[in-house]
Amino acid sequence: MTIRPLAAAIMLATAQGASAEDSAPPVTIDIVESDAGEWTVTYNFVEPQRALVLSQAPVVYREWQPLSDGVSMWRIGQMEGFVFDEPGTSATFRFTPHTGNLPAAYTPFLPFSDGSFGVLTGQFRVKPLANLDDATRFDGTGEDWAEPVLESSVSLSSPRRGDAYVGRPSGVDGTYIFVGDSEPIEGANFAGYVDDGLPTWLVESFDSDLGVIFTELADGWGIELAEPARILMVFRGYETEGLSLGGGAIGRLLSLEMGGADLREPIPEIRTYVRWFLAHEAAHVFQQERGNIRALFAGEGGAWVHEGSANTFSHNIGAKLADDPEAFLFEVYGEAYRDCLAHLEDAPLSRASEMQNFRASYACGDLIALATDAALPEHNLYNVWRALQAASEDADESDRVSLYFRVLRELGATETDIAILRQFATEQPEDAQSFLIDTMAHFGLPLTLDDENQFVSLKLRSEADMLALFE
Ligand SMILES: [Zn+2]
Repeated sequence: MTIRPLAAAIMLATAQGASAEDSAPPVTIDIVESDAGEWTVTYNFVEPQRALVLSQAPVVYREWQPLSDGVSMWRIGQMEGFVFDEPGTSATFRFTPHTGNLPAAYTPFLPFSDGSFGVLTGQFRVKPLANLDDATRFDGTGEDWAEPVLESSVSLSSPRRGDAYVGRPSGVDGTYIFVGDSEPIEGANFAGYVDDGLPTWLVESFDSDLGVIFTELADGWGIELAEPARILMVFRGYETEGLSLGGGAIGRLLSLEMGGADLREPIPEIRTYVRWFLAHEAAHVFQQERGNIRALFAGEGGAWVHEGSANTFSHNIGAKLADDPEAFLFEVYGEAYRDCLAHLEDAPLSRASEMQNFRASYACGDLIALATDAALPEHNLYNVWRALQAASEDADESDRVSLYFRVLRELGATETDIAILRQFATEQPEDAQSFLIDTMAHFGLPLTLDDENQFVSLKLRSEADMLALFE
């Protein structure tokens, strides 16, 4: 890896949309780290405000202390925000960076071992609230609050080195801004910051691993990324049991978190899983590279569309990088079968996110993606994503599941196959185990169980049948 030092000691970044150039956005948000390491955030509104909803994440988690007179924090149910005694235009808060993981949301502050941070600008986003009584009658989360996020410009200043990585500019999550003293790394396909607490045995192959991963995905998609992917990778320590991996992709920006006791010593299987994890998140970068992001990723009930195929792509790449591909695929597809079965015994796949049963979207979505690949004349799941991205441009923002099946029809899937896959995605089968076995068999992907109904094998069809799994 080559090291590329940055010159800036103080960083100012505009992290939200391009339209901010034309006129002042309704709110400017200034995040400041003082010389003493204290954090404050100041909001300046163009129009006087009564109350605001802080809308990142479907939970309340902030510990903010108002420094302005006549401003107080409020929490109602799963919503939090702040309120002015009299309509006001400016409010400042002192806060402690929240470094914990949140359910179904980006981590607000990514903590590096050396004290550096990735700061998520989206955690400061606000939605207007005209009347606090409306919120007391509202049963949802800040994310669900119907008012649109106020367009903002965000700046961050710190006495430390900083670097702004612009993610999806129009996205409400904003981007991560790096603040700290670490040096960035730069590879052929990526640039960013890797926690120096991560074990050397793991980090040493990142450059070549990421090279393989991004090349595979670029070849499959038939596109090059307009810019290298940006990476912020933090180490969560050895304390937790096993291996824990988490992260997300905001446009071309990847936030990656790794930790657990299994990282202490070099273990080939762990290295394989970490590569798979990098490939999964990198697949999201390509999924977001083109098309209408809202139509492809927003809305309830369809997380399987992007999570499932990201798993299928990354399992394929993970197998190519694994010392023992068959053992790896046996593990990941055994898990996909078990997780999908467990959910379908309870509920239809379309309710997975709402039930916070996130594993089901990955697992069932993965099996749907395999079946999709098998159902198409060309057996190419990348074609599905290219077509999805093209079709999303003029698509309704709320129905990616319909979009998916529309695209399958365009690509030559039969009505029978589409009906089976639609049933998989939207209905709870009477007998989930039989449904999964019959469905996979129908698509030429036989799934076998032993006498005790434990997963034995899944014969994969992609990659020219080269990866058949046996006991
Ligand atoms: Zn994912």
